[in-house]
Amino acid sequence: MKNNILGITKEELKNYFLNIGEKEYKATQIFEWLYCHKEYDFNKFSNIKKEIILQLANDFSNEFIEIEKVLEGLDVKKFLFRLRDNEKIEAVLMNHDYGLSVCVSSQVGCNMGCRFCESGRLKKVRNLETYEIVEQILLIEKYINKKIDSVVVMGIGEPFDNYDNIINFIKIINDAKGLAIGSRHITVSTCGLVPKIKEFSNLNLQVNLALSLHGATDEVRNKIMPVNKVYNVDMVIDSIKEYIAKTNRRVTIEYVMLNMVNDCEVDALALAKLLKGMNVYVNLIPYNETNNIEFKKSSKNRIDKFYGILKNKGINVTIRREFGGNIKAACGQLRSESD
Ligand code: SAH
Repeated sequence: MKNNILGITKEELKNYFLNIGEKEYKATQIFEWLYCHKEYDFNKFSNIKKEIILQLANDFSNEFIEIEKVLEGLDVKKFLFRLRDNEKIEAVLMNHDYGLSVCVSSQVGCNMGCRFCESGRLKKVRNLETYEIVEQILLIEKYINKKIDSVVVMGIGEPFDNYDNIINFIKIINDAKGLAIGSRHITVSTCGLVPKIKEFSNLNLQVNLALSLHGATDEVRNKIMPVNKVYNVDMVIDSIKEYIAKTNRRVTIEYVMLNMVNDCEVDALALAKLLKGMNVYVNLIPYNETNNIEFKKSSKNRIDKFYGILKNKGINVTIRREFGGNIKAACGQLRSESD
C-alpha cells in the first residue's frame, strides 16, 4: 500500500527527493502546499514540474479519514472519525481561555487495561498511522475554520505503544512549514512505558511529557493499572527523574481522583514524599464516572483536602477543569465504538 503523504515528515520527504535525484528543498515546497495552502491535490502543485507530480502520485496517497459525527457541548466538541477500514476513533476540541486545544487519539482501542478507563475496555485493534493522527487536526481545523493552538495526545490509546508514529506526528505538527504548533504547546501522556520514556528523553523534542501515575505506591497502583506489574512505581519515577535531568523540562503528573481508592490522606502523603524535590506539577483529575465501571468520583471536599496536603508539602498542584462530561467527551470516556 502507498504511504499517505500526510504522514510523512519533512526529513523523510527530503530523503525521498534526494533518492529520486531531486533537490531536497522540494520537501519544503510540498509541505507549504499541504499545510499552508491546504492543497492536497498533487496536480494543483503549480510550482512542481509535471514529472515529479506523476512520481508523487505514484508513490503516495492523499486520502482522508472522515468526520462521521460531531457532538457539541459547552466549550467542547467531540469528533467521531471513521477510518478507511471503517474503524472508529474520537478526538476532542476544547475552548480554553488560553486558546483552542485538541485531544487526539493514538490507537484504535488500547491494551493498557487501566481499570477505571472506558477506552481501555476495548482491546487494541491497531495502531493509528501517522497520517490518521495528523488528519484529526487538519479536519478539526477545517471544520471550525480556525487554527489549533495546542495539542494533547490524551485520547484513545497509549501513545508510547505507538511510539514511532507519534514521534513522526509530533515532527509534522511542530514543523514551521507544517502545522507550526510550538513544542511547548504539545503534550504527550503515557501510563508509564519506561523504555519509551527513556527513548523519548534522548530525542530533545522540547514537547511536554505527562505521566498518568494515579497511585503513589505499588499497592494502590497495581490495583488500578496493570502496567504497574511490568514497570512499577520506582521504575517509572526513576525514568521520569532521568528525563528531567536530561531535558531540564518539568513533567506533569496526572492523578485521577478515585473515591476511597487513591484519595485518602495517606495517599496524599505518600505522593508528596514520592515527588519531593522533583521538577513536576501534579494535575488532580476529577474522575468522570462511566456507566460500566465500579469506580466513583471523589467528592469536592476530598479533592480539596488532598490538594491542600500536597500544597502544604510544597508540591505544585492544580485541579483539572472538568470538560465535556455531558457529551461523553471527558477524559476516560472516549471509545473506539460509538454508543
Ligand atoms: N494512555 C495514555 C494517554 C491517555 S490520557 C495515558 O494513560 O496517559 C487520558 C488520561 O485520562 C489518563 O491520565 C487517564 O488515566 C485518565 N482517565 C482515564 N479514565 C478517566 C476517567 N474516567 N476520568 C478521568 N480521567 C480518566
